[in-house]
Amino acid sequence: MAVSVPTSLAEAVSLLSGAPDSVVLAGGTDLMVEANSGHRQIASVIAIDRVPELRTWGVDVVRRNLWIGSGVPYSTVMQPGIASLVPALAQASRTVGSPQIRHVGTIGGNLGTCSPAGDTLPVLAALDARVHLASVSGERSVGFDEFMVGVKRTSRRPDELITGVTIPILNGWQGYSKVGVRNAMVIATASSCLAVDTDGRSVRIGLGSVGPVIIRCGEAEQWISGRVDWSELSVSNADVDEFGLRCGAAARPIDDHRSTAAYRRRAVEVLAARQLRRAFPNG
Ligand SMILES: Cc1cc2nc3c(=O)[nH]c(=O)nc-3n(C[C@H](O)[C@H](O)[C@H](O)COP(=O)(O)OP(=O)(O)OC[C@H]3O[C@@H](n4cnc5c(N)ncnc54)[C@H](O)[C@@H]3O)c2cc1C
Repeated sequence: MAVSVPTSLAEAVSLLSGAPDSVVLAGGTDLMVEANSGHRQIASVIAIDRVPELRTWGVDVVRRNLWIGSGVPYSTVMQPGIASLVPALAQASRTVGSPQIRHVGTIGGNLGTCSPAGDTLPVLAALDARVHLASVSGERSVGFDEFMVGVKRTSRRPDELITGVTIPILNGWQGYSKVGVRNAMVIATASSCLAVDTDGRSVRIGLGSVGPVIIRCGEAEQWISGRVDWSELSVSNADVDEFGLRCGAAARPIDDHRSTAAYRRRAVEVLAARQLRRAFPNG
């Protein structure tokens, strides 16, 4: 098997353009599992862990955006620098696998696999993140909702590298919660990220593992954003319960080896209501 190890972004996209059927290898925590189990035939690999441009992060203070390179590992996202700006992403990162997985597994790899159970994805959806892609033809960015198009399916073209994400920095509470069969080393049975934008007076929510893609609950978001008392930052108990039910109604869960559809729907009802109450502790 041919393995290339580019040391710059230009070299990486040039290699990918010359061989678009090559497989991109970041931390390898998804890819090597697939390769070792024989689920993926790999002819050639482009290993991107030595591309410095992909391993940076930074803040655009004018646009109030955070940039995170696709090669940034979870262990970095959990540090105060990023965690203080997008706490929900740090929370999601803390729930991924084990310390070893978090040390090498990357945001770009979570996006590359694009499983509905990927822990960072409900956060990227709820925060309206943009995914950046590069090829020899140039760069483009798409909203997360345009990037993830199905179960493990994305709008990335074969000759494109995911270079990173930009995430709006919001004022307001945000959090990520996941339900699984145990507390650690677990793939989500259901997950939820709720984010409040107090400046825009809106509540957003992204649900994971309850549909083929991450589900934004547009109707429930609009409804609850109109019910919150934004001057007191409070919401009634009845509205908290109703919000949970509306989010559950938006879910499109299935029965599979991890859970039943009914359990998943109930789980996101509870997660959504609980997160809303945490966001607005005053009833
Ligand atoms: C024991 C274990 C526990 C795990 N637990 C969790 C968990 O709790 N939650 C969770 O969400 N995931 C979990 N995972 C899955 C995995 O760790 C994550 O999805 C991780 O983010 C993958 O990142 P990576 O850098 O290792 O990607 P890789 O395995 O290197 O790549 C994954 C896919 O993305 C593509 N890719 C990677 N980077 C790019 C890029 N820059 N451009 C284009 N394509 C790219 C690859 O070609 C490949 O198809 C677990 C995996 C293991 C083995």
